Amino acid sequence: MQHLYVHVPFCVRRCSYCDFSIAVRKRIPAREFVSAVLSEWGVPDGPAARGKRPVDGSALETIYFGGGTPSLLPPEGIAALVRELGRSADPGPAAWGGEITLEANPEDVTPDHARAWRAAGVNRVSLGAQSFDDTVLKWMHRSHDAAQTTRAVQALRDAGIENISLDLIFGLPEELKRNWERDLDMAHALRTTHLSLYGLTVEPRTPLDRWISRGATRAPDDDRYAEEYLIAHERLSVVGYQFYEVSNASMPGFRSQHNSAYWSGRPYLGLGPAAHSFDGTTRRWNLRAWEAYRRAVAEGRSAVESEERLTEEQRALEQAYLGLRTIEGLPVTAFARLRPPLTAQGWLEVVDGRVKCTPEGWLRLDSIVNEISHDRAAY
Ligand code: SF4
Repeated sequence: MQHLYVHVPFCVRRCSYCDFSIAVRKRIPAREFVSAVLSEWGVPDGPAARGKRPVDGSALETIYFGGGTPSLLPPEGIAALVRELGRSADPGPAAWGGEITLEANPEDVTPDHARAWRAAGVNRVSLGAQSFDDTVLKWMHRSHDAAQTTRAVQALRDAGIENISLDLIFGLPEELKRNWERDLDMAHALRTTHLSLYGLTVEPRTPLDRWISRGATRAPDDDRYAEEYLIAHERLSVVGYQFYEVSNASMPGFRSQHNSAYWSGRPYLGLGPAAHSFDGTTRRWNLRAWEAYRRAVAEGRSAVESEERLTEEQRALEQAYLGLRTIEGLPVTAFARLRPPLTAQGWLEVVDGRVKCTPEGWLRLDSIVNEISHDRAAY
């Protein structure tokens, strides 16, 4: 089984907080992009041996179109990618019913697009809603308003796509007076199956970073971040969502299968600029810039920029980190010793022989993993 990620780097503008690898374009070079990704995969022109297509034709379990803004690709482009990427798999996507996720911005979700995506095989859509407050959306430089998110959810459902995730950002600067509880309630009212909640971080060289440097806005506040994160846990668990990962909550049966593969350390393949791949021991990543990636693939060169082979120690630590991100946690036996402060402070709990983070622990995941790595170093 394979998990395939396709990075679609294009956006119409850059959001105020975003430092992702994107290419801001008024006109999306859809044809060139589809052709480059298929060449990297090993079809139609590129020799399969040079492409990433699995030579054993093993089935694709999930495909995830992430970005950037994948919903800017015309639906025919998405259909062509699903068809061709799935062609080398046995059975093909239509028969296997695997998860195919498309990240979409609400303004791109028209009834026609939603129907075309569904016809192409897309059965899960992750919407970049971020907030239901139009003032906040403007501040973020988003190009949609709250009403468009509501209409997008309806259009997806009408097209037969029931598995819908919303992204929301919390921990915004105080002066925005964002009502986080109201946003959570609005998300719940839409009855989406999945929510991804991300705390605002200030990345270097973003518009947000510049605003803070010149005093035009205040940096996000750690206390607010923690408070809103815990409010989300409380409020969402009451209405049936389960946090199955530090930033992700779902209704029963609607966990992201693709992202769950990452968190359980399974191999995955990435196509497109800046996409990462992992074969269980080595991580590889592609050239970040769209033009550099396109040229490399067109000239028959590898799109891989670099790679790192994980040592056994690194893999063990990574497994600990990934395990603690999820509700499954880690077997007690995976700990050299259980650091008493971590449990005493309510950051970790032991349930059925497994060590798991509490919501307070998830807020401090990096510190916990640091402690674990020191423990390991001491043995
Ligand atoms: S739409 Fe997403 S990827 Fe594009 S600029 Fe905004 S946050 Fe970044």
